[in-house]
Amino acid sequence: MAEDGEIDYPYEFDEEKRKKAKLYSKQKFYTGIIQTFGLYLPFLAITYFSGFTSLLESLIRTSVSGTFLSHHWIISAIFIIIYSILLYLISLPISYYSGFRLEHKYDLSNDTIWDWSKDQIKSLLISMIFMVPIILALFFLGFTFPDLWWLYAGILLFIISGILSNISHLIILPLFYNIEELEDENLKDRLVEMSEKHGVAKLKKVVVVKASEKTEKANAGFAGMGKTKRLLLFDTLLDKFHPKEIEGVVAHELGHYVNKDVIRFVLINAAVIFPIFYLTGRIFTLYGSFENIHHLPLFLLILYGLYSFIDPLTNAYSRYREKKADEFALKTTDEPHAMVSGFKRLSDIDLAEINPHKLIEIFFYDHPAPKKRIEMAKRFKEKVEQKG
Ligand SMILES: [Zn+2]
Repeated sequence: MAEDGEIDYPYEFDEEKRKKAKLYSKQKFYTGIIQTFGLYLPFLAITYFSGFTSLLESLIRTSVSGTFLSHHWIISAIFIIIYSILLYLISLPISYYSGFRLEHKYDLSNDTIWDWSKDQIKSLLISMIFMVPIILALFFLGFTFPDLWWLYAGILLFIISGILSNISHLIILPLFYNIEELEDENLKDRLVEMSEKHGVAKLKKVVVVKASEKTEKANAGFAGMGKTKRLLLFDTLLDKFHPKEIEGVVAHELGHYVNKDVIRFVLINAAVIFPIFYLTGRIFTLYGSFENIHHLPLFLLILYGLYSFIDPLTNAYSRYREKKADEFALKTTDEPHAMVSGFKRLSDIDLAEINPHKLIEIFFYDHPAPKKRIEMAKRFKEKVEQKG
């Protein structure tokens, strides 16, 4: 852990890093666009409209006929697994470029190619463990309850996302990172005291996520409820940030906790999912059918199309909640210069674009642009100075 003296504070932007940040965010942005519009969506469309998925389903059906695997839903499960692996393999070059090469080029990653590959396989397996039963359930519900499937499916996904938002830090995070208890008793006491003062009852655990083995980027957050409740801090945050900045970051996370943002987002997602499933079902059954899994790409294309209308709205709501969490942090810490310093340091470490184009902010930013966060903290500082 860094001592106070080793960290320059308050932090000022590094011009070199700002230049790099512009290039990095641009490359990351275009890679993302190519990934979605040049790869995922065309893959879904081409494999579906060329008849490939229909052929794949028949091939699976013929090869398992007569065996115990010849049940309709088992064939569907095999289809989903093969199709996901195909999609994964086709997108591998660009995932490698964006997730490994670019990160190394900009000195943001400490990952070895071996560890990166292991994580890739883990992610693929985890996504299959969740996605195969979920897709099967969606198709089963659509097939069994043609009129009300969207309601049952919405309820099902609402429950799953509620459970996942509470346990993913316990079951998924440890698969990717080593996690240890925070050793610095002094810091732990301060953070626990600050949290309890603002209503986080009985916070027993402050844990350190050993993220520096893989990345330079920093993060923190509260997770879980009841006995599993804990404060997570990336070791990258502890090692590179001034204690006052760490307090600001934790106060921001505390703001989310006090404002019940996790519950708000679970509810917002639920409010969005019912109409989207309803519309998806209406359009989907005009051209495809829940009876055969080879219509899955069409289902996903419609779902994606509808979500892209909603994303700017949920992003806007998320930016609003983030702003509220910043306001909370400014009020509780009463250290606006520490917040400003923290935002600047974080932007330089993550090579974040601090002032993106308005359209990019609308479509892709779930946090306010760093420039706005810094300006808000400065305005807060001015108000405090006027009063004092
Ligand atoms: Zn936040």
